[in-house]
Amino acid sequence: MTEDDIKFPMSPATGNSKILVVEDSPQMLNLIRTILMRSGFEVTTATNGHEGLELIRSHDVDLIISDIMMPEMDGFEFCREVRMTPRGDTVPFIFLSAKGGMQDKMAGFEGGADDYITKPFDPSELVMRVVAMLKRTSRYRMEAYTDSLTGLSNRRYFDKKLAELVSLSHRLKKVFCLAILDIDLFKDFNDSYGHLVGDQVLIHLGKFLRQTLRESDFSARFGGEEFVIILPDTNRDRALQLMTRMRETFANTPLQLDGRDYRVTVSIGVSEYPDDGDTARELIKCADDALYESKTAGRNCVTIYSKKAEA
Ligand code: GH3
Ligand code: MG
Ligand code: MG
Ligand code: MG
Repeated sequence: MTEDDIKFPMSPATGNSKILVVEDSPQMLNLIRTILMRSGFEVTTATNGHEGLELIRSHDVDLIISDIMMPEMDGFEFCREVRMTPRGDTVPFIFLSAKGGMQDKMAGFEGGADDYITKPFDPSELVMRVVAMLKRTSRYRMEAYTDSLTGLSNRRYFDKKLAELVSLSHRLKKVFCLAILDIDLFKDFNDSYGHLVGDQVLIHLGKFLRQTLRESDFSARFGGEEFVIILPDTNRDRALQLMTRMRETFANTPLQLDGRDYRVTVSIGVSEYPDDGDTARELIKCADDALYESKTAGRNCVTIYSKKAEA
C-alpha cells in the first residue's frame, strides 16, 4: 500500500490545528507530515527533542506526536521536558514508536503521554486518534488559559510564561521587562456609566494591546482592571519608550459606543530582569511599586522601577 491509496478522513472540527511532529528518520517524518497535512492540519517538524522544545517555547502547538528512539534526547525525556513548559502540561502528547513492548508503553504513559501508537501504523487510525484527542481537549485548553471577557491570556498562563522567561533569560543571559498597567479611576468610571460600559472598556483595552504590541511581546489580564505585558529582550530604556508611546496612543483612542466617545487612561509600572529581581515574584513586586508611583504622580504616566537609597 502506498500513501496515495489511503483514504484520509477529513476533520472540519479540528482543521488547522497545529501539530508538532518530532522524528529523527527523514522518511518517517515525511510520511507523517504528508498524512497530517492531507487531513487539513498545520504541521511543524523537529528531528530531535531539543529542536522540539525550542519550537514549543516559541510557538503554540495543539498536539505533539513524537518518536521515542532519537539521538541526543529520546522521546521519554522530551515528553518530561514538554510537561514542564507553559501549556506543555496540558498539550495532548502521542508517542509513535517502533518500540511495542508493554514496558515501553508503560514508560510512555507514566512519563506523561496521552496515547501510544506502534509502527508500522495505519494512517487512518493515526488521523482518527489525533482528531478524537483534539476534539476532546482543544476547547478546554483554550478556556483554561484565556480570560473570557477580553480574550487575552489569563493570570494562570501569565504566571507560567513569566516563570519560563525568567529561566530562559537566566540561561541566555538576557534582559527583559515586565510592565503592569492599571486603568485610572476605574471605580469612578463604573459609577458614572455602569459596569457594562466598564466591561466594554476592558474589552477595548484588550483589543488595543493585541493590536499594538509587537509579535514577540506577551500581554495578559492580571485580574480586575490590571493588565501585564512581558517585553522579552528589552531593557528599561526601550521599555520606557514603548510603554510611553502605548500609553499616549491609548489615551487618544477612545472607546466608541452608541454614538459617544469614552476616554480612559492607564498608569504603568515597569521592572527589569535581572536588575530589579531575578524571580517572578520580585519582578511583579517592583513593577507594582513603580505603578503605585505612577498613581501618586498624577496617573496617565509610566514609571520605571528604581531602588530607593537605603536610609
Ligand atoms: P486608580 O486610578 O487608583 O487605579 O483608581 P481605581 O478606581 O481604578 O482603583 P480601585 O482599585 O479603587 O478600583 C478598581 C475598580 O475596577 C473597582 C472595580 O469595580 C473595577 N473592576 C474590576 N474588575 C472589573 C470588571 O471585570 N468589570 C468592571 N466593569 N469593573 C471592574
Ligand atoms: Mg527514531
Ligand atoms: Mg487596580
Ligand atoms: Mg485602577
